[in-house]
Amino acid sequence: MDKEFQEEQFTGIIKFTPPLYKQRYQFVKDLVEKHKPKKVADLGCADCTLLWMLKCCNCIEVLVGLDVCATVMKENMHRLSPLPGDYLQPAERSLTVTLHHGSVAHKDPCMLGFDLVTCIELIEHLEESELKKFPEVVFGFMAPSIVVITTPNSEFNPLLPGVILSRHPDHKFEWNRAQFESWALETARSYDYSVEFTGVGHPPTGKENVGFCTQIAVFVRKCPQTIESVQSEKPTEAVYQTVFQAVYPSLKDEKYLQNAVVDEVIFTAQIIKQSLLDHVMSEPEEYSDDLTERELEFQPSADCFSEDLETLVVENSMEPFVDGNVVYIPLTTIFSFPRVNQLCGTFEKFCELIADKVTLSSDGSAVMLSTEYE
Ligand code: SAH
Repeated sequence: MDKEFQEEQFTGIIKFTPPLYKQRYQFVKDLVEKHKPKKVADLGCADCTLLWMLKCCNCIEVLVGLDVCATVMKENMHRLSPLPGDYLQPAERSLTVTLHHGSVAHKDPCMLGFDLVTCIELIEHLEESELKKFPEVVFGFMAPSIVVITTPNSEFNPLLPGVILSRHPDHKFEWNRAQFESWALETARSYDYSVEFTGVGHPPTGKENVGFCTQIAVFVRKCPQTIESVQSEKPTEAVYQTVFQAVYPSLKDEKYLQNAVVDEVIFTAQIIKQSLLDHVMSEPEEYSDDLTERELEFQPSADCFSEDLETLVVENSMEPFVDGNVVYIPLTTIFSFPRVNQLCGTFEKFCELIADKVTLSSDGSAVMLSTEYE
């Protein structure tokens, strides 16, 4: 609601580039890039646009949205589902995105243990009674490491065309900088946080004294949260309703890791095979017959590989070779490729993951591929 309002009303008179809502989201994204939180909750997430942007931040493993209006959340929540590409190339990190229906005036244990909580243009929508409970719920109960709160700066309003009392009919109040800062400082003091003020949406030249269009407070918990402090929270009854959950495919899940390793092994083995066969074909006097018909044992040295491949292959006791119409590629050779190595960690894990998934020699030490085109 807010973003449409700004885009329409500011055109021609005060135009923010990028639009103000994007500047607020970018501010949060920059904060995420800086602090690398693993668990992030967006309170008053509305149409989930910020969550949708944040799901691309690789540090985040748990992303939660909360809103008192289920309808607005449900409208676009499908955007938070994994895409085909997420399955084709699962990420290293795990990621679960969940949407809850509920109010920031109520405590629910599902909101414990977060690193970052964002409240973007939320507080001005709260009734007086909700605003009173808000600090105890967010800072006292959830107690995340960082809280970001943004709200309109009413001192900027005279510069906005058509704004008489407030920027939006649902706003219960709009604070000037002194009001917001005094509320934020008192909240920070009560719950042992430090707070710093900034904003987005620069005032026009000559009007600098009004401050930013959106004021922002960043609260940082003074004493770090420990697992014990999260767990020692008084048990609270669950009151929120989960309306959406998406678990993203991840290499942390053995099933996806195995698929990725097998794909990589087959790809690597094919490259080695091709390199070996190309070499054989380029030596007509030595290997004159067609390979598939030749019952010749072949023990090429590492210079059978293209230069690129050669640099990737570390010392192996055994090297790839052709026997009849079968190419044997030692597992040690495949494991020496950085991507395979990085995915599996250890040679034992590598062997465990590919067992029964690729055709191995009778002693289990090499991948077997037919010399024929596959
Ligand atoms: N953060 C979004 C939406 C801001 S509008 C953005 O930046 O665009 C405020 C949102 O807060 C609305 O979606 C409204 O439904 C929600 N809201 C209002 N009161 C709430 C409450 N008590 N608890 C949780 N969400 C609330």
